[in-house]
Amino acid sequence: MIAIILCILLISLPLIYSSYQYYKKASTTLVEINSMRAVAELANKVSRERAPANKLMSGSAVDFYVHQQELKQYRSEVDHQFQQTVDVLKQSGFQLVAVQLEKELGESLRQARHDVDRVSLLSTEARTSAEYDYAVRQMFSAWDRCYEGLRNVLLSSVAKDTTVSSYYTTIFILADLRDQAGRMASNILPYVSFNERIPKDNLVRSLQTQKQISYLWDLINTLQQDNARTPEYTALHHQVKTEFLDQGIPMVSGLIEESINGLPYSVSGVQLTEKMVSKFATVVDLQHYLLDYSQNVAEDDVQKAGQRLGFRLILTLISLGAAVFTLLYARNKVFKPLIYARNTLLDLSQYGEKKLISEKALEKISLLEAIQKLQGMLRQRDVLENQLRNHAATDNLTGVSNRLALDEYVSALETSSSGLLNTGLIVLDIDNFKQINDSYGHVVGDQVICFIADQLKRHVRSDDLVVRYGGDEFLILFAKMQIKTLFEIAEKIRTAIADNKQFDQFSISVSSGVAVGAENWEELLVKADQALLRAKENGKNIVEA
Ligand code: GH3
Ligand code: MG
Repeated sequence: MIAIILCILLISLPLIYSSYQYYKKASTTLVEINSMRAVAELANKVSRERAPANKLMSGSAVDFYVHQQELKQYRSEVDHQFQQTVDVLKQSGFQLVAVQLEKELGESLRQARHDVDRVSLLSTEARTSAEYDYAVRQMFSAWDRCYEGLRNVLLSSVAKDTTVSSYYTTIFILADLRDQAGRMASNILPYVSFNERIPKDNLVRSLQTQKQISYLWDLINTLQQDNARTPEYTALHHQVKTEFLDQGIPMVSGLIEESINGLPYSVSGVQLTEKMVSKFATVVDLQHYLLDYSQNVAEDDVQKAGQRLGFRLILTLISLGAAVFTLLYARNKVFKPLIYARNTLLDLSQYGEKKLISEKALEKISLLEAIQKLQGMLRQRDVLENQLRNHAATDNLTGVSNRLALDEYVSALETSSSGLLNTGLIVLDIDNFKQINDSYGHVVGDQVICFIADQLKRHVRSDDLVVRYGGDEFLILFAKMQIKTLFEIAEKIRTAIADNKQFDQFSISVSSGVAVGAENWEELLVKADQALLRAKENGKNIVEA
């Protein structure tokens, strides 16, 4: 029973284990997507914080208070997201990423905000584009910390080889695209705000960013799997292309051209910021869509993996249950009765004897061995029974049959098809036996009786029956005999006894009456007996028919 249960477990456990591993991986993927979403959201928000910061730094004194409130409100939104992201990362097992992000982004953001505040608190005349540009770049490095966080989540992800892994990369690239787009504008913004020509450095950086954007866009298009190109994805993708790439980038390029040609800028810094922010939103929308999509895929995976695990567990439990039930049933209905039968057989085979087999040894004896033991014992019984039967049907003194054997023999003949019609009978009596007894004693008399029995046995075949009928009288029965042959046999016996030299002191003779065929035993016996009587009357030592 244990062996069967072990076999079932041996087959089922690896399957259950692999299902469990798959389920665990799918669940972890789901948790990872949440972490990814939190960090991507934080990165977008940190990137987006540059918009109200830019407005405050480039806006007029009239709008200062409004812009300051807007920035303050947005910063608290970023801080809230920051805290939330750190919590999510810690709960999701990205402890190190969380600690690093908390420390480095915290510091970087504090520094950048300090620089933004410093520039914005200066009077409009006292502000310089260089300081503004410096503060902007500080904000860039704050975003860089978010980017590192996002990359670290991606690198330590266990779901690298699952169905959602390609979305991870696209989500990551979209975060970069969102920021690069912001940088493209932020790089020229201080100079547009101050109506100054854009320095060469900033021009180069802005153009590099533009190049980076088109590179990232190509990468997204190459990476995205066909099955993720749902109508919704295609619409959002189209929006990024038309609004952001086709309209947002030319807007910056136009301003760069205006700067190179020494023309007045067509838009102010605040206007540029506001226009660009709406263009970036399309990138964020696409990223949100992919996050939702991959979350759905992962949830689907978790559900399927859970179902598979449950199914395998139930299947294993059913198999184990069925095996245990079958085995218990077999034990009670088959094995126990067989053991009972074996024990009974062993008991029977030892019946009447002292128990030779110990209880422990008994356990090891199989049913077949028990049957063999009983067979052996029954064979012994048969032999004993035969011996007993023979003993009961044998005359003690001579060893020939007695009257019990005669009765059986006669019954068998009577029930046979021809009955006693062909049966031959010799009735034989020792002549003057009394005299021998009286003269030489009973011991010698017994020797004479044994001698006669011996002589009779010598003259008949094994299927003929020699019976000591009583005292000194014997019967010899032949199942099928003719009177002539019977007479000859009786005569041979008579002669052999009469001619014997066994006893020196006296001679022995016998008289016989023979008869063949009668309706029944009594009739046959009377016929032969009368013939014997005639033999005795006619002088003894003769055969009469
Ligand atoms: P008959 O020729 O007429 O037969 O004379 P008989 O002397 O043989 O007379 P009967 O057959 O009547 O005698 C039988 C005797 O056999 C009587 C009895 O004492 C004796 N006898 C019977 N059974 C045994 C026995 O087992 N052993 C001995 N030694 N004698 C026996
Ligand atoms: Mg006699």
